[in-house]
Amino acid sequence: MSVDTDSLRDLKEQGILQEQVSLAHYTTWRVGGPAQWLAEPNQAQQIPTLLHWAANEGLPVRVIGAGSNLLIADAGLPGLTLCLRRLQGLDLDAQTGRVRASSGEPIPTLARRAARKGLQGLEWAVGIPGTVGGAAVMNAGAQGGCTAERLLSVDVVPLQGDDFRVRRLARESLDFAYRHSALQTQPFLVMAAEFQLEAGHDPAELQQRTSENLNHRTSTQPYKQPSCGSVFRNPEPAKAGRLIEGLGLKGRRVGGAQVSEVHANFIINTGGARAADIRSLIGLVQQEVADAHGIQLQPEVKRLGFEMAA
Ligand SMILES: Cc1cc2nc3c(=O)[nH]c(=O)nc-3n(C[C@H](O)[C@H](O)[C@H](O)COP(=O)(O)OP(=O)(O)OC[C@H]3O[C@@H](n4cnc5c(N)ncnc54)[C@H](O)[C@@H]3O)c2cc1C
Repeated sequence: MSVDTDSLRDLKEQGILQEQVSLAHYTTWRVGGPAQWLAEPNQAQQIPTLLHWAANEGLPVRVIGAGSNLLIADAGLPGLTLCLRRLQGLDLDAQTGRVRASSGEPIPTLARRAARKGLQGLEWAVGIPGTVGGAAVMNAGAQGGCTAERLLSVDVVPLQGDDFRVRRLARESLDFAYRHSALQTQPFLVMAAEFQLEAGHDPAELQQRTSENLNHRTSTQPYKQPSCGSVFRNPEPAKAGRLIEGLGLKGRRVGGAQVSEVHANFIINTGGARAADIRSLIGLVQQEVADAHGIQLQPEVKRLGFEMAA
């Protein structure tokens, strides 16, 4: 396995590969310790170089997008963390409705640009502060819509082995369900995604719908405070937020973490929260709901680094 040492040196000189970087700046909760190595590639061809290097060094590799569904341990992450939010690019065809987006493209940007071109199908996505890659992995959704409904395929690179060439996976192979995809358990990095939207709609109508969706969120969620969105999956037919609110847990705190007064399925960082505070508060809420209702709430948020944290 050969590492292109010139390219690697360039990546370090350009600040694309850095050592010991706090990940608190890379999550919407604003918590998390340092990455041993953090890479923020802005071109697809930088990724195989980074993966070859990590494999050669025996470093574990993790991929993150906008960090809007992540709880990263205070101890940080060993190995290489690849943040793909700078890997951007968007190509929308107003005639066919076909859209190709790079992994780091913000999903709200995609939703807004599609609406402006009269492409229907992603109006629900305008308030989700993640990337295209993160939305595909999480099957992000809102207001009755979800990513899987419009996704055709993803281009991925394996994180293991020594063949880091891109391959295409069709939607049918991704086992999509409520906030679930096979990508959550398979060691792949999502480089890009292709969507099929419906062409020929009235842009003004679509734009109005995206604005209404955004307004609805900002009035019903603590949108401006650091959070990860909904912490727990809804134990259908029950709603996690209603169960938590019904137990009087709004406002409950551990350190700087607090169950939001606005929406009980959100935990906010009131300032200075540690990942450990959030983790304890998640456990406390789970215990209270289990004791009262016999329901074990499952976190929707992905936790990284806790396997090795004290
Ligand atoms: C205020 C707020 C509101 C929210 N509202 C909603 C909502 O309505 N509906 C909803 O579904 N979610 C919501 N979320 C959660 C979050 O925005 C989504 O889950 C989003 O899809 C995560 O995307 P991301 O890029 O931030 O991924 P991250 O949080 O960075 O990562 C999430 C998971 O995906 C993996 N991952 C990310 N990118 C890649 C990639 N390129 N390749 C391989 N793996 C990758 C990570 O390893 C991790 O396991 C909300 C969050 C916030 C803060």
